[in-house]
Amino acid sequence: MAPRKLVAGNWKMNGDLAALDQVDEIAKAAQDAGCDVLICPPALLVHAMKARAGDMLLVGGQDCHTKASGAHTGDIAARQLCDVGATHVIVGHSERRADHSETSEDVAAKAAAAHEAGLTAIICLGETEDQRDAGSTLEVIAAQLAASVPSGATAGNTVVAYEPVWAIGTGRVPDTAQIAEVHDKLRQDLCAQLPDGAEVTLLYGGSVKAGNAAEIFAIPNVDGALVGGASLAAADFVPIIRAM
Ligand code: PGA
Repeated sequence: MAPRKLVAGNWKMNGDLAALDQVDEIAKAAQDAGCDVLICPPALLVHAMKARAGDMLLVGGQDCHTKASGAHTGDIAARQLCDVGATHVIVGHSERRADHSETSEDVAAKAAAAHEAGLTAIICLGETEDQRDAGSTLEVIAAQLAASVPSGATAGNTVVAYEPVWAIGTGRVPDTAQIAEVHDKLRQDLCAQLPDGAEVTLLYGGSVKAGNAAEIFAIPNVDGALVGGASLAAADFVPIIRAM
């Protein structure tokens, strides 16, 4: 089977109850999209977004704890996201790896917790600008992939998102050959690591916009996108969904 296509929005620490007004238009576009459409709003909004979108849109979290419950003030368990209607959770976003010192081992534990709760884990990885300049991109992403994907991962419960750190929120995007090279390497490694690695959805993320989405989606082994800034307004996000 071919990997499922997915366009996912990551609202990061943006949005409020009023922002849910965007959801109706996005949900409507999702109905005739050639892909799954997911929004990962701040955890506080997951329940309300799911209530508003119903079955028309997938809703996910942006992070989860490694444990199922317990004395972890301020944290959120994968099971709790699931309880309020989430189907997915982003783990290992570069902002969490940088701001919260998350290692790939932490990311694997979070992905395993997501799987245990029945969520699909969107595992993020990507090189910094220094790593790209040093010529170590493929080595870096291979090491991150090997250490961030937990045992028990399958194409049914895992999505991998390649997000070069230098492309996130900067308006800079790797050229198509650079994206193709990394996605080809990710596909090869996933096939070596998982029995159904050929079917794992591989997203590109980092400054995806209406103007570059179609070109990015045409790259081999790119099965969709993880979109930050351009997912916040329906007027920006809907054309990306339609480009898939
Ligand atoms: P961006 O963010 O689309 O704003 O670059 C992508 C992401 O961080 O997931």
